[in-house]
Formats: sequence, structure tokens, C-alpha cells
Amino acid sequence: TRTPVNVTVTGAAGQIGYALLFRIASGHLLGPDVPVNLRLLEIPQGVKAAEGTAMELDDCAFPLLRGIEITDDPNVAFAGANVALLVGARPRTKGMERGDLLAANGGIFKPQGKAINDNAADDIKVLVVGNPANTNALIAQAAAPDVPAERFTAMTRLDHNRAISQLAAKTGAAVSDIKKLTIWGNHSATQYPDIFHAEIAGKNAAEVVNDEAWLADTFIPTVAKRGAAIIEARGASSAASAANAAIDHVHTWVNGTAAGDWTSMGIPSDGSYGVPEGIISSFPVTTKDGTYEIVQGLDINEFSRARIDASVKELTEERDAVRELGLI
Ligand code: NDP
Repeated sequence: TRTPVNVTVTGAAGQIGYALLFRIASGHLLGPDVPVNLRLLEIPQGVKAAEGTAMELDDCAFPLLRGIEITDDPNVAFAGANVALLVGARPRTKGMERGDLLAANGGIFKPQGKAINDNAADDIKVLVVGNPANTNALIAQAAAPDVPAERFTAMTRLDHNRAISQLAAKTGAAVSDIKKLTIWGNHSATQYPDIFHAEIAGKNAAEVVNDEAWLADTFIPTVAKRGAAIIEARGASSAASAANAAIDHVHTWVNGTAAGDWTSMGIPSDGSYGVPEGIISSFPVTTKDGTYEIVQGLDINEFSRARIDASVKELTEERDAVRELGLI
């Protein structure tokens, strides 16, 4: 029998945590034959609610769930962690400036990065979901000098999945026929969903759509503002779809992309495609055996270049701001 994998989830008592934990425990994160130990990190006020969720997890009698530990101490939560899903974050509240938001999240992600550095397993893989996800991932990564930088990633898979779904709706194609879509840049309103290299049942997606006005005025803003549209409709922010994307991100990272396809992940830039080295930006990547590689050699047209550059500029500004605050 396999040794259980230790999966740490922060913000476990939140909305996304509630949608996420049951799927991890039922085997959707790592596979149907991989047992897991869950470590739930919460702030002290969240511990009781996390205990309630743990009672429900017990009541599911999941065959793969070997243990649940709940704590408000990051050093305990990340001890021996193989996978860490950093979901808990400080949301932007009314009137909050970007600097305040970054500082508040620095207070969360810097100590968590250090705790990962000091306590996690050698093969630790980190996914940051809590916003601003890319820059929170950068803060955590900078606080973990002993962990290879590429183990710190940020989630743009929800944007990726949203873009595939919008493209399927526009063209009448099946979701499963759409490949090689890319999200570039920041998980924010400046993100750029790129269909110029995407394929629909083997045909170039941009040629199938053949409507640049739709791309610029409908597709890109619909994907970028989807979160706000869901809040407007549901009266609460997206949670199940965000949890689903977190599952997809880690599952793909661990188990690999299919031949002839790729995915989107926020990862430390190696300078590819003119994205400054070190910032955590979304790229097209293939994955295999728990590692990923940026898809190289794509032709970037003017339409794409301008949009990638705008999102990357926002990321460099966030990096400069957290540098100024002494967070990296
Ligand atoms: P959610 O579970 O709804 O969201 C958690 C984080 O995920 C937020 O930063 C949110 O960003 C982000 N997020 C990323 N993508 C999405 C998406 N598509 N849709 C919605 N959210 C997205 O928040 P809750 O307030 O329900 O729960 C947060 C929990 O975290 C609380 O239980 C709190 O106690 C805990 N917490 C734990 C910490 C810790 O473990 N040290 C630290 C801070 C908080 P956005 O705000 O932009 O929507």
C-alpha cells in the first residue's frame, strides 16, 4: 500500500476550502489510488469551523482519507507537506489601496513561505489560490530560499477553464475538442486569454472564430470579469469552480498534460516571451512526472503582445511594491 501524501490547505474553513476538501479526500486531487493526510491551517477564529468541516469529512468515510489535523500554527500545518494549497488570504475591502492589500497579504504569505521552507517535504509543490495570487506566491517563494523556486505556482486554471467554456459556447464545439488555450500574465482583470494557438477539433481556433471584435470586446472581458458576474448572480463569489480549478492545477502538475495539449499555470518566469525573470506570471506549460516546462517557440502577434505586456507590467508593479514593503 502507498504511503499517504500530506496535503496542507490554508483557509480551510472558507468557501473554497469547503468545496475543495471533499474532492481531495475522495481522490480527485492526486488519483483514485493515492491515500491522503489532510492538514488544515486556519486563523484562530476559523479553527472551530474547520473542525466542523473535519467532522463532515469523517462522516463521508472516504477510503483514501487517512487523517485530518487542524491547527493555527503554520509550522505544524506544513510539517512534511507534499502539496500545499494556499487558499486563505486577506480580501480587498472597500477603500483599501493596493499597497495595504499587499502588505496585509505579506503578513500571511511571508510566514507561510518560511514555514514551508523549514518544515515541508523535499518534494513540496505549492499552489497559491488566495488573491492577489501571483504576488502572494512571489512573497511565499522569496521567504523559502531552500525550496526550488519553481515549486511555487499561482492559479490561472480557473481563467483557463472559463476561456475554454466561452470558446466552446461561441463555436458550438465540445469542451473536450478545445486544446492549447493559454492564459498569460496576472490572475486579475489584465489577464490575457489567448486563442491564437488554440485548436478546436484540430483547427486553429482564431481562424474558426474569425472575429477579432468578438475576441477584443466580448471574449477577453467576459473571461476576465467572470468572477464579478458570478458575485452579481449568486450573491457570493465563485467557490466550487475555483476549488475545481485548484484540483485541476495540481492534478495536471502531478499527472501530466495529455499529448497534443497544454495548460496554463502561474510560474516563476525564466525570461521566456520577454516576461522579466522571477515574477510569477501565467504561461502555456506542459507537465510530466511532477515537473513542468514552458511551451517554447510560439509566434506572438501584435494583438497578443500588447495584452501580455500590459498584464506583465501590472505584475512588475506589484513586485516593485512588495519589494518596497520589504516583503521580498
Ligand atoms: P474564499 O474561500 O471564498 O476565498 C479564499 C481566497 O481565494 C480569496 O483570497 C479569494 O480571492 C481567492 N480566490 C481566488 N480565485 C477565486 C475565485 N475564482 N473565486 C473566489 N475566490 C477566489 O474566502 P472565505 O472568506 O470564504 O474564506 C477564507 C478563509 O481563509 C477564512 O476561513 C479565513 O479564516 C481563512 N484565512 C486563513 C488564513 C490562514 O490560514 N493563515 C489567513 C487568512 C484567512 P478574492 O478575495 O479576491 O475573491
